[in-house]
Amino acid sequence: MSKAKICESVKVVVRCRPMNGKEDAGACDQIVDMGVKLGQVSIQNPKTIPTEVPKTFTFDAVYDSSSKQSDLYDETVRPLVDSVLQGFNGTVFAYGQTGTGKTYTMQGIWAEPEKRGIIPNSFEHIFTHISRSQDQQYLVRASYLEIYQEEIRDLLNKDENKKLELKEKPETGVYIKDLSSFVTKNVKEIEHVMNVGNQTRSVASTNMNEYSSRSHAIFVVTVECSELGLDGENHIRVGKLNLVDLAGSERQSKTGVQGERLKEATKINLSLSALGNVISALVDGKSTHIPYRDSKLTRLLEDSLGGNAKTIMVATIGPASCNYEESLTTLRYANRTK
Ligand code: ADP
Ligand code: MG
Repeated sequence: MSKAKICESVKVVVRCRPMNGKEDAGACDQIVDMGVKLGQVSIQNPKTIPTEVPKTFTFDAVYDSSSKQSDLYDETVRPLVDSVLQGFNGTVFAYGQTGTGKTYTMQGIWAEPEKRGIIPNSFEHIFTHISRSQDQQYLVRASYLEIYQEEIRDLLNKDENKKLELKEKPETGVYIKDLSSFVTKNVKEIEHVMNVGNQTRSVASTNMNEYSSRSHAIFVVTVECSELGLDGENHIRVGKLNLVDLAGSERQSKTGVQGERLKEATKINLSLSALGNVISALVDGKSTHIPYRDSKLTRLLEDSLGGNAKTIMVATIGPASCNYEESLTTLRYANRTK
């Protein structure tokens, strides 16, 4: 495959959230400039104003603090979900420091229609498409899992503490043994599945501080379509949509962190750096070896990254000077995967 073709299948966009009350009230300057027309982000080192010029990065698209959820969905995500409905696999990642809007971007605020994020918008999109189709039969299934410290948990199973195993079959590739999946017939049913999983996650968060910022949450929608072909036979196409709210990208290994905490930090960064390596190898197009095996996250998404699959990385950043280092790290990570 040519390089251009491979690049087309990976899109990297950056979204900057608005200043929050704390930043406005404190001594934080706004140091990020989003060049929406050019797809550029400029960031100024607060320590070197005004002697150093800002660093500028270019992406497939950028979304400033006034961007609407529907802008991001319609321009960037809709084509990917369309290709899932055609039987291809696709993955949307939200990557960034905790507090920059990953969950806002993926889920948003369910009760406010304009603030609904990528996940509820994709549910609407999928079921609207299905309700308009005439000659096809669809079957939609949903699973919801989490990777925490390189261990997989089913967010839809009552026995959620059970650790699931990754297995591999020569014909079908990598799969998660015993992962539950539910057939959903409409938006309401799939939203219900999502809510159940979110509740499981929030219980874990109450039990352990910062839990949700340290785990990767993956909602998987499988769309099976069967259609009568010209040959008189039924043909089945299966597309899979992975919606991934990644663990916070902030550096965990600060001084003084030891034992369990350090082990945890290393494992979180392992999945995130393995993901960065896989995506940049795909974008590069020259790599003969794509290092999927380096983490659970990349292994389990192997069939949805590269090949005919489409990938979108939404990198989220904050606008304020107090987050300069983390925002710069996020922009560099996103830039490398581009
Ligand atoms: P993360 O999941 O990355 O930790 P959140 O999605 O929880 O971050 O966002 C942190 C806070 O900022 C939340 O209160 C959220 O509603 C708000 N926020 C994030 N992004 C935006 C945005 N683009 N517009 C408005 N508010 C946002
Ligand atoms: Mg979050």
